[in-house]
Amino acid sequence: MTKYVYAFFEGSRDQRDLLGGKGANLAEMTNLGLPVPPGFTISTDACRAYLEHGSEPDELAGEVSEHLAALEEEMGRTLGQPDGPLLVSVRSGAKFSMPGMMETVLNVGLNDESVQGLADFAGGDERFAYDSYRRLLQMFGSTVLGIEASVFAEALDDLKSEREVESDVELEVEDLTGLVSTYKQIISDHTGEDFPQDPRVQMDMAVRAVFDSWNTERAVLYRRQERIPGDLGTAVNICSMVFGNGGEDSGTGVAFTRDPASGAQGVYGDYLQNAQGEDVVAGIRNTVPLADLEQIDKAAYDELLEVMATLEGHYRDLCDIEFTIERGKLWMLQTRVGKRTAGAAFRIACQLVDQDLIDMDEAVQRVTGDQLTQLMFPRFDEDADRELIAKGMNASPGAAVGKVVFDSDTAVEWAERGEQVILVRRETTPDDLRGMVAARGILTSRGGKTSHAAVVARGMGRTCVCGADTLTIDAKGARMRTRDGVEVAEGDAVSIDGTTGEVFSGEVPVVDSLVVRYFEGDDDATGDELVAAVARVMEHADQARRLAVRANADTPEDAGRSRRFGAQGIGLCRTEHMFLGDRKELVENLILAESTDEQEVALAELLPMQRDDFVAILEAMDGLPVTIRLIDPPLHEFLPDYTDLSVEVALRDEKGNSDSLQHKLLETVKRLHEENPMLGLRGVRLGIVIPGLFTMQARAILEAAALRIKDGGDPHPEIMIPLVATVQELELVRADIHDVAADIEKRTGVRPEFAIGTMIELPRAVMAAGAIAGAAEFFSFGTNDLTQMTWGFSRDDVEASFFPTYLDKGIFGVSPFESLDLEGVGELVRQAAEKGREANPDLHLGICGEHGGDPDSIHFFDHVGLDYVSCSPFRIPVARLEAGRSATEDTASTA
Ligand code: ADP
Ligand code: MG
Ligand code: MG
Repeated sequence: MTKYVYAFFEGSRDQRDLLGGKGANLAEMTNLGLPVPPGFTISTDACRAYLEHGSEPDELAGEVSEHLAALEEEMGRTLGQPDGPLLVSVRSGAKFSMPGMMETVLNVGLNDESVQGLADFAGGDERFAYDSYRRLLQMFGSTVLGIEASVFAEALDDLKSEREVESDVELEVEDLTGLVSTYKQIISDHTGEDFPQDPRVQMDMAVRAVFDSWNTERAVLYRRQERIPGDLGTAVNICSMVFGNGGEDSGTGVAFTRDPASGAQGVYGDYLQNAQGEDVVAGIRNTVPLADLEQIDKAAYDELLEVMATLEGHYRDLCDIEFTIERGKLWMLQTRVGKRTAGAAFRIACQLVDQDLIDMDEAVQRVTGDQLTQLMFPRFDEDADRELIAKGMNASPGAAVGKVVFDSDTAVEWAERGEQVILVRRETTPDDLRGMVAARGILTSRGGKTSHAAVVARGMGRTCVCGADTLTIDAKGARMRTRDGVEVAEGDAVSIDGTTGEVFSGEVPVVDSLVVRYFEGDDDATGDELVAAVARVMEHADQARRLAVRANADTPEDAGRSRRFGAQGIGLCRTEHMFLGDRKELVENLILAESTDEQEVALAELLPMQRDDFVAILEAMDGLPVTIRLIDPPLHEFLPDYTDLSVEVALRDEKGNSDSLQHKLLETVKRLHEENPMLGLRGVRLGIVIPGLFTMQARAILEAAALRIKDGGDPHPEIMIPLVATVQELELVRADIHDVAADIEKRTGVRPEFAIGTMIELPRAVMAAGAIAGAAEFFSFGTNDLTQMTWGFSRDDVEASFFPTYLDKGIFGVSPFESLDLEGVGELVRQAAEKGREANPDLHLGICGEHGGDPDSIHFFDHVGLDYVSCSPFRIPVARLEAGRSATEDTASTA
C-alpha cells in the first residue's frame, strides 16, 4: 500500500520527487538536528492520486490523523485546542519551485475560541492573538476560498487610515478584533458560508486547495515556459507554527550563505522585527540588513550563522534560508540551494573546490552552457548612468540600443537609412517579420517566453524583451508610457537587455564581455576573478570530455576565431558563398551553358578561385580536419528572382532594346523554378545532374591540399556529400572524386590524404545507413534538414507561423530546430550511428546541424557515441563545457 504521509524526520533531501523541494529540505534539516518546528509532509503521490480521481485517496485522511496525533503528542497541545492551541501552516511545495501555485496558509487551527486560548498562552497578549487570527482569515480567504486578495488588503488599508496609522503594528487590539469581524463578513458575503471554525476542516480544505492549485492557469503557463513536466504534482507540508509577531524580541527573516550576485561569502539577507512570514518579502514595513540582527539579538544571530555554516558545509553550495525568531528562539523554516547569477555560478563552483567541499568534476556540473552564453554576450555598462523604465521577460539575450519605432514599416524604412531601431509592439505577428529582421532589438508588452516575438527573436539571434506589462503602448500615436508616466515617443532612444529583461531610457554604453576577450586570447582579461574561474572550469571540462568540438566556419576569419575558441577542426565548411559576389556571373554562365564544352569553360574559370578559398581555410586550420560540404542549395538561388527579372525584361522589350542573353536567362530561371525547392534539385542530385560541378570542387579542394603540402603545411580535408539518400549516389560521386585525386597525383606527384563522407539528413539515409557506410569514411548528421524532413515542415515557413501556437499549447516544449527532438529525430540519429558503425567500425561520426551548439542536444550526442559536434564559432566554448559536463555526470563528487 502506498504511504502518503511522512513525518519530517522520516524524509531526506534526495526525496524531492516524493516530498517536493520544501518538504525534502525540511526533512534534511530536521535530521541534521537543526531547529525545525515539527511537522509532516503529504506526498506528491497523494496529489497525483487526487488530481487523477478528483478526490483524495481513501487512506489519506487516516494517515493524516495519525501524523497529526503524533504531532499533537509531541507538542503537548491539540490542533485548535481552545486553551492554548497547536497551530500549523499548510505549505505547498513542488519538486521545482513554482510561482503561480497556491503558496501558504499560516495559523491554521485558530477560531473564535482558540484565539483567546492563544492570547492566554502568550501571557495575555490579545493583540498578537487577533493579529494572527486576521492573518489566517486573510490567507485562507484569498488562497483557499479564492476571494480577491485586494478585498482584504483594502479593508486593512481603510482601517489604517481611519485610525490614522501608517503600519499594521500600530493598530490596537480593538482594531484587530474589528478587522477579524470584517474579514469573517467578507468571507460569508463572498462564499455564502461562514469561515470554518473546525480546525481539522480548515486544514483539510487548505490541503485540497494546494492540490487544486497545481492546475491553475498561471501554474500551467509557468510550467510550460520553464519546461517543467505537468504530471509531477505538488506535496503539502504541515508545519507547527512558530511566531515572529509576538513582540520586539521576535521577528522573521531571509538569508543567503553567499552573495547570489557575486558569490562572495558573508552575511546577506533581511530581517524584520515583530513580523510573521511573508511580511519580509511583501515590503509592508522596512526590513533591516541581516547584519543588524547582531545588535538586536546576539545569541540568535550567532546561532543563525552557525546554522548557515552547517547548511553550506552539508549542501556544499550556496543555500538560501527562511527563519523566524520566537521570543529569542531561532527556528528554521526553509532552505534550498539558492539561485545565483551566471557569474556567481562560476565563482562559487571554484570557491567550493578551494574549500575542499567539491571536486572539479562537480564544479563542472555546477555551471551550465546557458550561463556561459550569458557571460559571453556584450552587456550594458553597469557603472554607467542608467534609468530603468520597465522590466519584462528575458526572451532572447543581448544588449541592444536604438531608436524606438512602433511598426514594422518604419523599422524597415529607418533601418534602410542606417538607423539602429528597437521595434516596440504590444505583441508581434508573422506580419512583423520584416520589422524584426530590420531591428536591433524587439520589445513587447505582452506574451511570455513562447510568444511569437520571443520564439522568432531567439531564432534570429535578435535581442528581445517581452511581456513588459507596465508599458502602455500606443502604436497609432507612435508612443508608449511607462508606469511612472514617462512618455517615450517614436525616435527616442532606449536600451534593452535581453539577458535580464531590463529596459532603460536613452543610450546605455555597451561593453564587450571579458570572457569573450579571454577566449580571444586577450591577456589583459585573465587577471579578472570571473575570467579565472571560467578558465579553470573550461580547462577541466576539456580534460574530461570525450566528445570533440568542431566549428561551422566558411571563411579563414571564422576558422581563425574558432581555433582560438578551442575548435578541433571544421565540421562544416559551406561552399555556397564561393559562388556569390563577383563570381555570380560565372555561375550564371555555368547554368546557362548549352553544351558540356561551355560548362567546362565556366567551371575552369571558377576552379582557381575556389582553390584559393580552400588554401586559405586549410592554412587557418593547419593540422586539423576540415570538412568541406560540396554545393548544396538549389541552383536558382544563384540566379535573379523570376518576377524581378520578368519585369526587367518586359521593360527593356518595351523600350525596344531587348537583350537576347537576358531572355535566355529568363527562360532558364523559369525552367529551374521549383514549387518545393527544399525537396528539389539540390545536394548530391546537383552533383549527379551536372557532374562537372562536384568534380571541379573536389579538384579545387585536393589541389589546394597539394599546394599546402608543397608549402610544408599539414592539410586534412574531408569531402562531404550532402543530401544522400542511397549508396548509389555516393558511389557515383566517390568514383569521380577518386579519379580527380589520381589525376592530381599523376600531374603533381603529390597525393593528399583525404576522406569522403556523407551527411545524414534524410530519413531514407538513416534506414539505409548500413549500406551507405560501406562507401563513406564518415557520417555527419545534418540535423536541420533531418528535422525538416522528419517532421515534414520547412523551417523557413513554419517557425514564424505556427510554432508559437504549438509551443503555447505544449505540443513542443521547445522548437525542434533549437533543441533536438530526441523521440523522433534523435532516435534516427541513434539508429544511423548504430547501423553505420556496425557496417563500418572505423566510421567517424559527427553532427553539424544547429543542434551542435545546444546544451541538451550535446548531452544526447555524447550518449549515443558520436565523435564530435560542430557548431557556430560563438558556441564552441558552450559546446566544450557541455561535452565536459556530459562526461563528468557520473563521476562528479561532493567529497
Ligand atoms: P513560500 O514558498 O511562498 O516561501 P512558505 O511555505 O515558505 O511559502 O511560507 C510563507 C512564509 O511563511 C515564509 O516566510 C515562511 O517562513 C513562513 N512560514 C511558513 N510556515 C511557518 C510556520 N510554521 N511558522 C512560522 N512561519 C511560517
Ligand atoms: Mg518560503
Ligand atoms: Mg542540409
